[in-house]
Amino acid sequence: MKAEYYVVRCSNLSCGKFSYCKAIQKTKMCPYCERRINLSKVEKIAVETNSQARKLVQEFNKKLGELREPSWYKENKGKQTQ
Ligand SMILES: [Zn+2]
Repeated sequence: MKAEYYVVRCSNLSCGKFSYCKAIQKTKMCPYCERRINLSKVEKIAVETNSQARKLVQEFNKKLGELREPSWYKENKGKQTQ
């Protein structure tokens, strides 16, 4: 089957969020930082369906969130243990 959608990562280093777009698009506007992503210049994951693409985006962004846990989050957790 032909890939209809691409999952792409924002090329803005301070953003780096994942989003998806149709495979026929040339560029994609990042929904988080509004940077225009040139689809020919970034790594992309080809998927067949809209729902598959959305699922991957959710998964990847969740992982990013876990990796980029802000420093205060840990401190807060520590304070809550009594
Ligand atoms: Zn972005």
